[in-house]
Amino acid sequence: MRSILRIIGALLVLLILILLVNTLRTRSHQLADVPPVAPIEIPDSAIHHLAGAIRIPTVSYTDYSLTDTTQFDKFLTYIQVTFPLIHQRLKRETFNQYGLLYEWKGKNSALKPVLLMGHYDVVPVIQGTQRMWKRPPFGGLVEGGYLYGRGTLDDKMSVIALLETVEYLLRTNFQPARTLLLAFGQDEETSAQRGAQTIAAALKKRGTSVEYVLDEGGVIKTDGVSGLKKPVALIGITEKGYLSLELTAIGKGGHSSMPPAQTSIGMVAEAVSKLEHNPFPARLDGGVDRLLDYLAPEVSFGQRIALANRWLFASLIEQQMSQTKSGNASIRTTTAPTIFRAGAKDNVLPIDATATVNFRLLPGDTVEGVIERVKQVIDNDSIQVNILGKGNNPSAVSDPESPAFLKIHQTIKSVFPNVVVAPYVMLGATDSKYYSGIASSIFRFSPIPLNDAETQSIHGTNERIRVQDYQNMIRFYVALIKNSQQ
Ligand SMILES: [Zn+2]
Repeated sequence: MRSILRIIGALLVLLILILLVNTLRTRSHQLADVPPVAPIEIPDSAIHHLAGAIRIPTVSYTDYSLTDTTQFDKFLTYIQVTFPLIHQRLKRETFNQYGLLYEWKGKNSALKPVLLMGHYDVVPVIQGTQRMWKRPPFGGLVEGGYLYGRGTLDDKMSVIALLETVEYLLRTNFQPARTLLLAFGQDEETSAQRGAQTIAAALKKRGTSVEYVLDEGGVIKTDGVSGLKKPVALIGITEKGYLSLELTAIGKGGHSSMPPAQTSIGMVAEAVSKLEHNPFPARLDGGVDRLLDYLAPEVSFGQRIALANRWLFASLIEQQMSQTKSGNASIRTTTAPTIFRAGAKDNVLPIDATATVNFRLLPGDTVEGVIERVKQVIDNDSIQVNILGKGNNPSAVSDPESPAFLKIHQTIKSVFPNVVVAPYVMLGATDSKYYSGIASSIFRFSPIPLNDAETQSIHGTNERIRVQDYQNMIRFYVALIKNSQQ
């Protein structure tokens, strides 16, 4: 008996030792001693340039016939007038009239170009929410240190800040060694068919290969993440895939006074319920592992033990992450029923009932795999499962150890010295995925500090940007371009 206790004791000591060694072996991934960026005076005109762009409602609608293209013409004229040097000295191409690609030729053609991108279309102001806006969404008002309006965070601020940056660099006679490409889409909020998809296809056809792509994406999350007091700059190294499935049951219809045991509505409801009760399994290997690697050395000792010993604590971590909507979406393919349609009259049994379910695929899952699992879970041959559109697989995971990531990391530290930098899985979709044919390093990051409440204003109401934050965006892009010359 005593020897058994002794063995158990020895094993426990061994386990604790392993946990401690793993914990103590975590080394910070943060770049240390990055010199602060040289101070650049950003003139007041910069925020007013963005304000002018906000006042042009370049709203994109899924039904393209609703799009007011005169606003897009206005926008193109506006940037030509506002940024004259760019339009004198850079090569500009348009794609489907409004997709924009600028090329600033570098001196050293042996270096691959860098592609910085954004989109200047915005989502409409949702019917019924107009009155909730404290300032008019297309007023472009600068007040109390903020600029208000649709597009101040998504994503006109990127487009105008990049143009402001290049105009500044041209004015100060900067000459890039590395070619700089700027790509601005006009329909990111819908299909990106006219913009990013066309631009990316053209570049691929020309055989262009770029060092890295940087698009909108993660922000500097000022609310931090659990266990970490500092703001975290989240750089998207991948984005989830997208798939919508339509589940349809065909019943017999008839009078509601003599219903069958299960109606078409009942069948589809049961299928949806099964899907909700059988979520996709949680996994820490879909890109979130890289986030945890970066966070582990920065969090409290207790949390570090768990993050550094995922071989033992994976299910505990998964359980913890599942508690929040964003945490949950970072570790699994999500299932979201979004449309339910059936019936027209209270005393008539509908013939068909349909539910649309939207899935966001974690890297590692595929469109085919998800469809197969859905059919398995529903387990009812009477329900048709049809794919809406094409769906797309998750994007490849870019390497956070790549030189490109390090350049972005270094630039963040030079402009925002107190933040923790970390790679993460982007839950939403961006245009950057279309450029996978010309780049293996694709990152998604908007250099702007936001708390959770401010993030809610994106696609919502009262979108606004702090003037100071906008100025720092420009400082960031200036520094990034300068840091990317080797
Ligand atoms: Zn956007």
